This record gives sequence, structure tokens and C-alpha cells, in this order.
Amino acid sequence: MIQRKKSLQCRHVDAGSCNACEQELTALLSKELDIQHYGIDIVASPRHADALLVTGPVTDTMQPALKKVWEAVPKPRQLIAVGDCAAGCGVFQKAYASHGGVDKVLEKPDQTILGCPPDPEKILDTLRELMNS
Ligand code: SF4
Repeated sequence: MIQRKKSLQCRHVDAGSCNACEQELTALLSKELDIQHYGIDIVASPRHADALLVTGPVTDTMQPALKKVWEAVPKPRQLIAVGDCAAGCGVFQKAYASHGGVDKVLEKPDQTILGCPPDPEKILDTLRELMNS
């Protein structure tokens, strides 16, 4: 019997973040954390993704693009809110052009990684748990 290796391909959308969450996502690709070593990667196309990582509170400008990307991710799929803003409890939750979190625009996330910004090790642990579930 062939032993299948697990992997998790993620597409990321910055839905109006301050960019600190992106800095932590970038750290996942560093040699210290090296997500690819675990079989996790960030992909360029949503059609190649198993999971969508969303950062930011979802601004008016980003809402249509975020919806299109989510529609393009094939099922079964996972929605992951990365950071307090995407989780609906961030500092930009009530800003004038903010929808206040990914659940207001798409659906309740399968995973929520809290923090402002979240620790990259916490992001990695969550992705690994998701991959092995
Ligand atoms: S959660 Fe914090 S770090 Fe992330 S986008 Fe919002 S304000 Fe920036």
C-alpha cells in the first residue's frame, strides 16, 4: 500500500491588513521555521489551495477580491483568520471602511489565530494541526 504524504497548500489574501500580520507570515518561510519542510506552502493560485489565509479586517476595497478568491478555492477547503483583525476583534474592527472580520463577509473561519500580530510559531502550529487532522 502506498503511504501518502500529507501536505497543505495555502493561498493568502491581505484584506486590508497593516502588514504586520504579513511580516509574521513571511517569517514562516525563513530557515528557522521553514514551513515547506513540513509540507506546507503558500501558493500563487487559489485553485491550487487547500486553505485560504486571510489577514486584515476586510476593507470595502478588498471585499470583492476576497469573495472571488474564496469562490475559486476548491472544496473541501479551510478558511483561516490570521490575526485579530481577520478574527473580528482587531483595532480596525470599527474603522469606517472595515467590515469587521472575515466572518462578516465569507463565513465563520475553520481556524482563528489570534494575536496582533500572531506569533509565527502559533501560525505554524495551527497549520500543522490542520494538515494532520
Ligand atoms: S491584527 Fe494587528 S498586526 Fe494584524 S493587521 Fe490587524 S492591526 Fe495589523
